[in-house]
Amino acid sequence: MAKILVTGGAGFIGSHTRYFLEKQGHNVIVVDNLSRGYAESVPAAILRQINLKDTDRLIDLMRQEAVEAVIHFAAYISVGESTVFPELYFTNNVGATISLFNAMLETGVKKLVFSSTAAAYGIPAKVPITEDEPYAPINPYGESKVMVEKMLEWLDKYREFRAIRLRYFNACGAEPEAGLGERHDPETHLIPLILKAVQTGEPVKVFGIDYPTPDGTCIRDYIHVSDLAEAHIFAVEHLLNGGASDVFNVGTGHGKSVKEVLASVERVTGKKPPFTIGPRREGDPPSLVADSSKLQTKLGWSPKRAELDKIVADAWQFAENHR
Ligand code: UDP
Repeated sequence: MAKILVTGGAGFIGSHTRYFLEKQGHNVIVVDNLSRGYAESVPAAILRQINLKDTDRLIDLMRQEAVEAVIHFAAYISVGESTVFPELYFTNNVGATISLFNAMLETGVKKLVFSSTAAAYGIPAKVPITEDEPYAPINPYGESKVMVEKMLEWLDKYREFRAIRLRYFNACGAEPEAGLGERHDPETHLIPLILKAVQTGEPVKVFGIDYPTPDGTCIRDYIHVSDLAEAHIFAVEHLLNGGASDVFNVGTGHGKSVKEVLASVERVTGKKPPFTIGPRREGDPPSLVADSSKLQTKLGWSPKRAELDKIVADAWQFAENHR
């Protein structure tokens, strides 16, 4: 069992990963500046409210806690916001990450699991997407993640810095028994917005029904956050066992359209979600589906909660508990 530093552990995916790391017996310390996360998602005893830009404080903490590996979630995640304030994304997602890397190199902690994204691929030439698809981000958010991925390739080559880059597809679902779920402010993600529409009666807007897909709406690979969290455990244990750097897609391999998600919400909640139809959202590729066979083969991970209705049911329970 290892001492693992989780940055952004008060956020959606970070809080679930912290929960599963502890279940697995690991010793976790969370660094989060709480700018977008929630303190109540982290046990107070392990939360350190530190800004990642503060390299010296990170160095002190990593020495005091004898950290062995880092899982780095802390980042801004809104594509739309990144097109309005790109500098915010480069400062926070790249600048703060460089500070973290400096602290890690200074203290000799050279094992990192990094939150990357399917947005690194932009509009992929083929779907399902494999990891050898080239970098082609189409927004500053995706670019900020690609910049870090490239830094990690150089650090691996010249500094023996071992990293697993996990490229997430659409994280959703919740772990309601643990009081954990998705709480973004403002919320921009499809499933929580549809659930909110059911709760409030205010319609959700479907962004485009004229895509070249079977029902005209966009297709995404919705992955349960707990399956995603478990991928981090496989990744960090691989590094702790002396494994090499690598990059993996994390998705179910099954795409669902916006209309299929609406139908799932109706099955789960017993209510028809109110919706209107709007224009396409800028920068939305028609279809993004992961080929995650590399992660399954190399690290032994597999999604255990891949049914869309299970994902929606967990998200719904969390939404009802936090109404
Ligand atoms: N979407 C939608 N209405 C919304 C939010 C999202 O129709 O209010 C669509 C969006 O166009 C995309 C899918 O739902 O095809 C998933 O979007 P989300 O923002 O959840 O994740 P993304 O795929 O952008 O990471």
